[in-house]
Amino acid sequence: MTENESSEPADVTVLGAGIVGICTALSLRERGFTVALLDRNPPAEGASYGNAGSLSPWSCVPQSMPGLWKSVPKWLIDPEGPIALRLGYLPTFLPWGVRFLRAARRDGLDAIADAMMALTRPTLDIYRRHIAGTGREDLIRDGVYVHVYKNAADADLSALGWRMRRDRQVPLEVVKGDALREVEPALSPEFEAAVLIKQQGRALDPGGIGKALAEKAQSMGVDFRRCSIDRLAPEADGAWRIETDAGAVPAKRVVVAMGAWSGKLLSGLGVTCALEAERGYHLVFRDPGVVLNNAIMNVDGKFVVSSMNAGVRCAGTAEFAGVDAPPDYRRAQVFARLVKRMFPDINVDDTVEWMGPRPSTPDSVPFLGDIPGFENLYAAFGHGHTGLTMAPKTGEILAGLIAGETLDVDMTPYRIDRF
Ligand SMILES: Cc1cc2nc3c(=O)[nH]c(=O)nc-3n(C[C@H](O)[C@H](O)[C@H](O)COP(=O)(O)OP(=O)(O)OC[C@H]3O[C@@H](n4cnc5c(N)ncnc54)[C@H](O)[C@@H]3O)c2cc1C
Repeated sequence: MTENESSEPADVTVLGAGIVGICTALSLRERGFTVALLDRNPPAEGASYGNAGSLSPWSCVPQSMPGLWKSVPKWLIDPEGPIALRLGYLPTFLPWGVRFLRAARRDGLDAIADAMMALTRPTLDIYRRHIAGTGREDLIRDGVYVHVYKNAADADLSALGWRMRRDRQVPLEVVKGDALREVEPALSPEFEAAVLIKQQGRALDPGGIGKALAEKAQSMGVDFRRCSIDRLAPEADGAWRIETDAGAVPAKRVVVAMGAWSGKLLSGLGVTCALEAERGYHLVFRDPGVVLNNAIMNVDGKFVVSSMNAGVRCAGTAEFAGVDAPPDYRRAQVFARLVKRMFPDINVDDTVEWMGPRPSTPDSVPFLGDIPGFENLYAAFGHGHTGLTMAPKTGEILAGLIAGETLDVDMTPYRIDRF
């Protein structure tokens, strides 16, 4: 018998120590549950490490929007474009791709926006509660989210995405010319206008936040174990056996929070879900010579640039190639040219590249809660482009559900079997 097999099962075993698993472990522990947190890597080294760091309490516009399909062909053939699809992966990708395009139906958009915002809205309050006392409170900054446009006419608040935000009282302001340069002096004058989303947060080191919170969770008694999870096996009494490379781990209740890898694990139980690995890249300019005051979204290029502790980080791209395919770092190197056009004075010589998979659902709403057909098994994955932001509320929801609390959200939009 291995060491793991002999240990008393925790009340809840969380699979995956990305930001979602870490926040879930913290919220469970706050409610008095004993918690084991399993990952093959140290905490926060998947998608949660290299993201753009935007903490966006107002995120309510999904990736799939009406009319987007018209831009897809030109993006796919442009080597500097925001989307890449490896040809051999096309047959695997297609069913998800079709669902993604269908999710843009206008009559479903308001429900999607509300389901997203229920998770994004409380992000800063819960993060600040979690990070208090870790000594890393400085990793979360207040600011605005600057969406920049080359053509001033495109900063148009009557466009559907901005209308959806206005309908939800998102604090917005359009700035042009010199007023924009006052907000972000390093930005090229080629960018004529921006929409500012106010009352935002940003992370100066997203992986550092995850690690600080994981350390806090461990100091509160969460049992972090390094192991590679191979299989989930139901036991007769509603309990679980988690088969890992370090032996079997007995579990009473299991939360699957393995990001883009969650679908593969659940397929072993015959559970299918519309999850795709939407691989993103970043390039960090370690000696940039310029400072950006806020997170800046290049709306046409669909990437975000932000000053962080390690330098200026540019993050974006949606590459579909399968979760474990080798990275194509040309996708990251493209950012050097694109960022130089945005910030002419930036030094792009000293760079670090990275790739990580967003766990993406067709409608940008994650899979949360009970997994039908199984007892004591819960989903907490599929947070796509906004998982850093949605993680704290996700943790609260999962912990509340397991504790039998009355939840302040309707769980219907998050059902794993909705597609
Ligand atoms: C380029 C880019 C930019 C982004 N920008 C933002 C942003 O600005 N704001 C925002 O809110 N979100 C952003 N996101 C999205 C966000 O990063 C993700 O949604 C979020 O990190 C997902 O967290 P997670 O915990 O579900 O997954 P992950 O962080 O990927 O964690 C999954 C964990 O599961 C573990 N695991 C997987 N398989 C196994 C196994 N078999 N055995 C053991 N362990 C396993 C992995 O090691 C990993 O630690 C961005 C993402 C990318 C890629």
